[in-house]
Amino acid sequence: MNFLMACLQAVLNFFSEILFGCTHTRVTRPFTLDEQTYEVCLDCGKQIFYSAQEMRPLTPWEIRRMKAARAGGVKVVPINTPVGRLVPRDQKPNIAA
Ligand SMILES: [Zn+2]
Repeated sequence: MNFLMACLQAVLNFFSEILFGCTHTRVTRPFTLDEQTYEVCLDCGKQIFYSAQEMRPLTPWEIRRMKAARAGGVKVVPINTPVGRLVPRDQKPNIAA
């Protein structure tokens, strides 16, 4: 019976974390690595992004904006592939004709 209750508790915690995020209270101090400041939950290991300027955890909206800014714009890179390589293997390129 205890095993069943432990499984039920784990399932409830899983969905609670999906809906509400990490609700644990034991976290590390904020620290900065690779220009990102965050705390780490000592219970589940989740990174909690943190604003060093305002000294508070970021909201989900601020996290989305930060990730979009880090990703930058769409880059178009020319492909230096000869045209003949685009022909499927079972067809011979019609170069000699
Ligand atoms: Zn946690």
